[in-house]
Amino acid sequence: MNDRAPSKSQPPEKRARVRATLKGRRVDPRAREEVAALLKDRRRDLLIEYLHRIQDRHGHLSAAHLVALADEMKLAMTEVYEVATFYHHFDVIKDGDTAPPAITVRVCDSIACEMAGAKDLLAKLPGILGKDVRVLHAPCIGRCETAPAAVVGQNPLPHANIEKIAALVKAKAVKHPERGSGGKHPHLEIVSPACVDYAAYRAKGGYALARSCIDGAKQREEVIAVMENSGLRGLGGAGFPAGRKWKSVAAEPAPRLMAINIDEGEPGTFKDRWYLERDPHRFIEGALIAAWAVGIDEVYIYLRDEYHGCRAILEKEIAALQANPPCKLPLIHLRRGAGAYICGEESAMIESIEGKRGMPRLRPPYVAQVGLFGRPTLEHNMETLHWVCEILERGADWFASQGRNGRKGLRSFSVSGRVKKPGVHLAPAGITVKELIGEYCGGMLDGHGFYAYLPGGASGGILPASMADIPLDFDTLNQYGCFIGSAAVVILSDKDRATSAARNLTKFFSEESCGQCTPCRVGTAKTLKLIEKSKWDQPLLKELSQAMMDASICGLGQAAPNPVLSVMKYFPQEVT
Ligand code: SF4
Repeated sequence: MNDRAPSKSQPPEKRARVRATLKGRRVDPRAREEVAALLKDRRRDLLIEYLHRIQDRHGHLSAAHLVALADEMKLAMTEVYEVATFYHHFDVIKDGDTAPPAITVRVCDSIACEMAGAKDLLAKLPGILGKDVRVLHAPCIGRCETAPAAVVGQNPLPHANIEKIAALVKAKAVKHPERGSGGKHPHLEIVSPACVDYAAYRAKGGYALARSCIDGAKQREEVIAVMENSGLRGLGGAGFPAGRKWKSVAAEPAPRLMAINIDEGEPGTFKDRWYLERDPHRFIEGALIAAWAVGIDEVYIYLRDEYHGCRAILEKEIAALQANPPCKLPLIHLRRGAGAYICGEESAMIESIEGKRGMPRLRPPYVAQVGLFGRPTLEHNMETLHWVCEILERGADWFASQGRNGRKGLRSFSVSGRVKKPGVHLAPAGITVKELIGEYCGGMLDGHGFYAYLPGGASGGILPASMADIPLDFDTLNQYGCFIGSAAVVILSDKDRATSAARNLTKFFSEESCGQCTPCRVGTAKTLKLIEKSKWDQPLLKELSQAMMDASICGLGQAAPNPVLSVMKYFPQEVT
């Protein structure tokens, strides 16, 4: 109505008023110039990448930049705004608000870091660092073996304490203001061990297997059969058999795509980072073989934004591979997450790669049929692809014969908490937590008695030390209301409480719920309120948990009650 000319046949009071200007905000010419300088093309799926570039350059996302970006990309302003405000790492500054300080310190307060003193750091740091530094709490940053962990700008700080953080902040403030990178790595100091680079990987025979596949020395069916017989299952948490997935996507019409999930955000999980920092080409070669076997020409790698060091490694190593390819390569795209745990869910990750909010899709259709950009998509966790070469080289029987207690294969356990040697421990599938602590983790920390454990990160429930003889693997924990997920094992001692762990984990779920469905959005918040009391209303908590498990769209809402249900079942002494 506002755009129409007033009709002279109508009385003056009924005539529509004509706007002097078009509806909505005007594009600020300077903001347009600044935004345009950071864009390559205007593809819709690159929206998150462009938001990163603006924020990396200017330190935050102003309303003027968002309006200019929407205009440049021919998108509705609401579309840009809803994406920018969905992700934790984007600082959207509304009119009248002040921009954040140049340096942000993020202190991880997920379960392992909280047990190691994160709360104390969060309480003291603002007063010590002053108003020129912003201190935020952060959900798991994937460095649980070095708890408490913090990030100063984009620089991870293991075993963080006040002195170390203050020293790094001072060094950054004096020498390296964080802004102005325009999407690169602002003065990133990579804290990582020696990495096998492209030249070193090739020198040890790397990519010979991929080349032999792609050059026709191997048959697709033969390779898929080896993968099926090995019993390798998806190692991101869901555990779907890898070979079967290859077969089913290969049967879908081309073009097919691959999406590799390196968004490991499950509190307690850091195995993908561990392997990426040390041997990134192993999973890339696995991806090339999978792409060849399934008939895929384009591969998308989705890396969580917290892993700045891994991003630098991957950019460098993919560029080296592409500059001197050992064989015909698929197109490889590296995409950067923006701080959202839910993007570890496969369909949410696909939405995020498409440049949207990471909201899980309703299924069916499954991503194997209708996935990324509507095409059949082979979705894999990075570690699943990490094992492809070794299985093909050593045979299906080698991998299948590795288990213990009747189970098959190997698992990369991310172990954190009260043990002497936290870290990634490659152990037989089916090992018990008692064996894992004793044989791989050097025992409990001095002065700590084993009290409880999380067998599968935040979502996998909590079990008491009296149940330490259960084989840890897919399916073995279901009868106890738990699961192994991505094999993130957190060890609690007699200095810890299961109720405190449940509060920490439920708070995490409440903050990370994407908000799409009511049982999860409201259920996680209400559960948190109920368990903050010293005496729990157990009948109400059970009813609420059932509603969440029955009616939530995705695994986040369905598994969020697990810690609370575990406490009521296995630690009644703490809640009555
Ligand atoms: Fe989003 Fe939670 Fe619903 Fe999953 S269960 S779709 S995270 S609101």
